[in-house]
Amino acid sequence: MMETFQSAPRAVRHDTRIVSILAAVIGLAVFLIDALTPLDIAIAVLYVIVVLLVSSTGNRTATVTTAWGCVLLTLVGFILSHDETVSSGALARCAVSLLAIVTTAILTLRNQSATTKMQEQLELLNLAHDAIVAHDMNDRITFWNRGAEALYGFSAQEALGQPIQRMTQSSSPVPHALIRTELLRSGHWDGEITRVRHDGSEIVIASRAALLRDAKGLPRAVLATSNDITQRKRMEAEVQRQREELRKTIDVIPGMVWSSSSDGRLIFINRRWNDLGVALDEGGGDIWRTIVHPADLAQMQRDWQAAIAAGTPFENVSRIRGGDGGYRWMHIGAEPLRDGAGQILRWYGVNTDIEARKQAEHALRRSEAFLLDAQRLSRTGSIATRLPAGTMWWSDEAYRIFDYPRDVVPSIDAILAHTHPDDIAIVRGVHEAAASGACEIDVEHRLLLPDGAIKHVHFVAHRASSESDGDEYVGALMDVTETKLAQEALARSTAELAHVTRVTMLGELAASIAHEVTQPMAAIVTCGGAGLRWLGREKPDIAEAQESITQMIRDAKRASEVIARIRAMARKRDSQPATLDLNEIVGETIELVRRELERYRVDVRTDLAMPSPTVVCDRVQLQQVLINLIMNAAQAMSGVNGPRILRIATGASSRDPGCAQITVQDSGTGISEENARRLFDAFFTTKAEGMGMGLSICRSIIEAHGGRIWAESPDEGGARLRFVLPENEGGDNEH
Ligand code: ADP
Repeated sequence: MMETFQSAPRAVRHDTRIVSILAAVIGLAVFLIDALTPLDIAIAVLYVIVVLLVSSTGNRTATVTTAWGCVLLTLVGFILSHDETVSSGALARCAVSLLAIVTTAILTLRNQSATTKMQEQLELLNLAHDAIVAHDMNDRITFWNRGAEALYGFSAQEALGQPIQRMTQSSSPVPHALIRTELLRSGHWDGEITRVRHDGSEIVIASRAALLRDAKGLPRAVLATSNDITQRKRMEAEVQRQREELRKTIDVIPGMVWSSSSDGRLIFINRRWNDLGVALDEGGGDIWRTIVHPADLAQMQRDWQAAIAAGTPFENVSRIRGGDGGYRWMHIGAEPLRDGAGQILRWYGVNTDIEARKQAEHALRRSEAFLLDAQRLSRTGSIATRLPAGTMWWSDEAYRIFDYPRDVVPSIDAILAHTHPDDIAIVRGVHEAAASGACEIDVEHRLLLPDGAIKHVHFVAHRASSESDGDEYVGALMDVTETKLAQEALARSTAELAHVTRVTMLGELAASIAHEVTQPMAAIVTCGGAGLRWLGREKPDIAEAQESITQMIRDAKRASEVIARIRAMARKRDSQPATLDLNEIVGETIELVRRELERYRVDVRTDLAMPSPTVVCDRVQLQQVLINLIMNAAQAMSGVNGPRILRIATGASSRDPGCAQITVQDSGTGISEENARRLFDAFFTTKAEGMGMGLSICRSIIEAHGGRIWAESPDEGGARLRFVLPENEGGDNEH
């Protein structure tokens, strides 16, 4: 069994004194008995006890001195107790005593030097930083160095003799029995043990234990060195936690994260790859082959090899197979990680899903193509103007409409250069309005292109503002040339149709017209005859003759006015809008058709507003409308037995502010609900001889002058036709 060692200097000094006194007392007693008593025994042998006692203090000099002292006392005692006659037995006893003292002294000195050496070695063990503990095979602690005191907080005095496992509440992933078995088997064990310190805190130690056997090979003790690895363990756990967190973070990144060796072999892939059914053990670099679309693989590998060779960042866009077997567009990018010397250690890459972006790009390209097509087909270009700089952007179709090649920089000057000279002021005005912040722009103007062609364009734009880009006008430029030409053609054919129907109408009114003309003619003839008679008297009555001639002139004027009106109606001419007095037109028209009205026995009643409203309209066309309405009314009343009353009224419109209104109301058959819907349609007629063009032309004429026409069925029966025309408030009458 191993001795227990631990230095305790003060106690040792205390013991030394007692031992020295005891040794002196025993030495003195032995000397007195030896010298003064006649005992024939080798009492001097007991000096051995004195030597042993002194030597137990560990003091080498004192031991040597004591031994010599004892030898001296033995000799002195021998001389004093014997006279001249010394028996051989006494001599032998003295020699034995001396031999015993010397032998004991030599042995104790040797033992002392061995003990000193061992103490020194134990001191060295105490100096060791590690905790060094020895315990016997019953776990009792036999050695406990300062390192152990510092580590576990138990002093050597507290620890020595205690069962180590129980005192430190040892626990280890490996059961204690197994550790013991291993120690007995191999003589060694090392591993981690968790122990509880004196203050109750828990520590983890790395322990290395060795088994000590005695000469017979029997296990005697265990020596263990331990050091505190609690901090290291904590750091390892923290590093592990951080590593796992990083791993989890990398796993949840919405991209396929990977790293490769410097030569491009994949060495790490995150969980997203596993979602695709790809595992790293599929063959390193060949994973790409299994997931990249065959059509993209060659290019991807070329880019990758080029990046590896040049050490430059790697970028590629390829289709990557998804977990469902379908391919999705991905951006593959990687950056090299270099060491201090610039050598590439690893590549770190991520594949980002850009399928949605690709789809959006595709959709954008398609809608751009659609837009281009739509713009070409509808002849509509787009123009965007950034404010306040005035920088412009034109679409392809806008370039085509302005007749500029694509390399011309869009600008207001470029637009003005191709604007019809008469419309330049309009375009400038609109541009200035936009610059001063107008919200909406709606303008029509003409372009005069270098080849002399004229285009009509309609430009609409609105102001749009965005936080990042500032204000901008976004607009559509429509080439309305064809529409304009069609409108003009339509206006021409409408005019022609109106003319034809007027001529037809004149035919119908022939009797009336003839009457209008023949009546003043007859009057002229009558007045002429009367004039001649007044002059043929013996005494010519000049005054009466003058009166007759004046009457003749008046009638002739009336006739020529009628003829002029008829000629105007018959003439083929363009619309000539003028400011007209409505009451005057109504009166003239009634005069023109008076004969017809009489024929139909129509009672005409007028209700004309004073002062007379004025409108801007073509005189002949307005008369045509009125004649049409009056004749339709007369015809509608022809089949009616009751009173035939035609009311013609002028006045301001109550429903259309700023418009004058004319009402032609009859007491005729009226208009059925069914017919009312088609009344103004071309070729709609209920008459055997009718053409069905009258009301249709009336509507074209009224609408062309900015008015509208409609029919009503009054409660008292008959029909009421009404139309409104914008009133001319300036009041410049045509005369
Ligand atoms: P048309 O006189 O050649 O028939 P219009 O266009 O002038 O052509 O008239 C179309 C139809 O409208 C007429 O056939 C008639 O049935 C109806 N209509 C027009 N004015 C009146 C009215 N004042 N009263 C009843 N029906 C009318």
